[in-house]
Amino acid sequence: MNTLNSSSAIVANNIREDLKQSANRATTWSENQIEKKNAFKGPRFENTDIEAQPQPKAAIELIAEEPIRMVEGRRARCDGGGGALGHPAVWINLDRPGNHACGYCGIRFEQKPHHHHH
Ligand SMILES: [Zn+2]
Repeated sequence: MNTLNSSSAIVANNIREDLKQSANRATTWSENQIEKKNAFKGPRFENTDIEAQPQPKAAIELIAEEPIRMVEGRRARCDGGGGALGHPAVWINLDRPGNHACGYCGIRFEQKPHHHHH
């Protein structure tokens, strides 16, 4: 099986240091996992353009792209958008400065700047 060995050796030099393990994990979290940078080795991946493969974003990355919802008043109501994809409605207190993420879905809310009435 010399052909297999030689092709593995070629691909083995092509370690992908730029491949992230996961959006929210710096390394593997199970003994039988292969680090991602080493996962695309071997004859199966020879001539595979990894950049051209689907690389779906993790939920944590998608939610980070959601704009912060600016809310009038001291609390926000969130039900995750309602319907089948929603969650039980919760009220989120916005008294503290900055944004506040919904504990269910991660959407962030922030109180609109006050209008001071005199
Ligand atoms: Zn929510």
